[in-house]
Order: sequence, then structure tokens, then C-alpha cells
Amino acid sequence: MSIVYLNGAFIPAEKATISPLDRGFIFADGIYEVIPVYRGRLFRLDDHLQRLDQSLAGIRLKQPLNHSKWKQILLELIDKNGGGDLSVYLQITRGVASRDHFFPTNIAPTIFAMVNPLKPFPDEVLKKGIAAVCLEDIRWKYCHIKSIALLANVLLRQQALDKGAMEAILVRDGKITEGAASNVFIVTNNQLVTTPKGPFLLPGITRDVVLELAKHHGITALEAEISLPDLHAADEIWLTSSTREIVPVTTLDGSPVKSGKPGPMWEQITQHYKHYKQDIMGLIETT
Ligand code: PMP
Repeated sequence: MSIVYLNGAFIPAEKATISPLDRGFIFADGIYEVIPVYRGRLFRLDDHLQRLDQSLAGIRLKQPLNHSKWKQILLELIDKNGGGDLSVYLQITRGVASRDHFFPTNIAPTIFAMVNPLKPFPDEVLKKGIAAVCLEDIRWKYCHIKSIALLANVLLRQQALDKGAMEAILVRDGKITEGAASNVFIVTNNQLVTTPKGPFLLPGITRDVVLELAKHHGITALEAEISLPDLHAADEIWLTSSTREIVPVTTLDGSPVKSGKPGPMWEQITQHYKHYKQDIMGLIETT
């Protein structure tokens, strides 16, 4: 039975209840974070908490807890759920109030956190790579905020699935923004390229790690706009996210990406990522 955190208490998931008047339910007036946990340890926690601060600022909601309190809560939650490899999901909404668009005064935010097993793609899937399709980015203009209003992402991802693909790569005004739940990298002429940060994409933590690793290992990495033809001509395409790490796209819009197999640069960065994780988390290889 999983234990969740809700407004100061650790309780079994089945016992956790919130009001239907919660503004998260009524207006999707809230934000969230997802943090990977390896063997009970939070990966890049400071970065995730900083992004949490930015999302809160983006919706003008005061950070209800300081970072050390967050750390304490999340570690306790992980512990109560038996540790291991997990993803922590946390959500803050503006709280419970009678339905009115204006910000209510003097209400407490609703603070919720849970853990789920971390489910990276199995090696067999990664060795083959996944299929993605390009779809028009129909989302709003504040995609840098990790908003719980994910209906557009949900519809886009389902549309991808209906076309036999695992992810939608989103295109706004002819340029690639990001995936429906991931950031996008391409490799062209041995250079790594990803879309610059801005209001049309989430500043992914995995994206930052990949850029850092590329720099550290002498791989040229640029933050530059990627056009739809650039994407179609790319030697490699990757998707990055905290829960799936770095995933090679080998089929785009039904056609193979170059050889149709994960490329050499992906193999390289994946190894660097694995070692980096082991180094900073103090993990010891068991396989
Ligand atoms: N963009 C979107 C829209 C996402 O939902 C996610 C992850 N959930 C990402 C990018 C990747 O961010 P991160 O590497 O921090 O998980």
C-alpha cells in the first residue's frame, strides 16, 4: 500500500481525500514537479526545487515550504514507501475556495506528494529506439511553467499513440519546441542541437544534464532553433526526461531516422549519463 503526503500528513493513498472545490480540480490552478529517485536518493533535487520555485512564481503562488523542509518531506516519503528506484510526483494547488476566477485571499495551498516506481524503457526498447510523430504545438504560451493543466499534452500524446508512436514532437511556427512530455535533441554533423529555453518549452533538468555532459566530454552542443526540415534531416533524434532519461527516436513520421537504429552519439551520451548518475549518487553497478 503506498503512502502519500497530503497537507502535512503521511497517509495511505486510499485515505487521501481533497475537496472538489480545490482550485486544482476546478481550474487546474496549480503546478507540479517530478523528481527521479535512484536507490532512495533524489537526483538533482536542487534543480528540481529551483524549477518548482519558478513554476510557483509563474502562477503567483507563494512557495509554502523552504527547500530543506521539502527535502525532509520527500526523503521521509521515499523511506515510508521502501526506497528503491522511484519517481516522486509533487503538486501544489492554490487551495480550496468557492469557485471564482480571482485569487482567493487567506487560503492555504494544497500540497500533495506521492511516489511511483521508476519505469525506464527496457534495454530491448532502447536498443531499437522508439517512434515519434510531429504534431502542431497547440499548447498555451507559458510552457516553461510546469502547470498541471496538461490537457493539450494528454491529447497530443494520445494522438501520437493512435498513430503508433510513443511521443509527439511539437512544432510551433515551423520550429520544434519539445516533446509532449520530453525535450528534443538532434545530432547533425556531429553536433548536438537542442531548442533554446524560453516560454514555449519546459526547461528540462535532463536537458541540462545532457548539455553539461556534452560540454564535459568535448561534444559540441548548441542551443539553437530546430526547424522541421532540420529534424527530418537529422542524423539522430533523442528525447530527454527525468523518468525516461535519454531515448533515441529511430522512426519519425513513419520513416526511419537515418539507419533506423540508435546512433553512436546516443550510445556515447547514454554511457556518460549512466556514469554520471553512478558518480553523483554513489551508485555501484550491480549488473
Ligand atoms: N517537457 C515537458 C512538456 C515535460 O513534461 C517534461 C518532463 N515531464 C520535460 C520536457 C522533461 O523535463 P525533465 O527532464 O525535467 O523531466
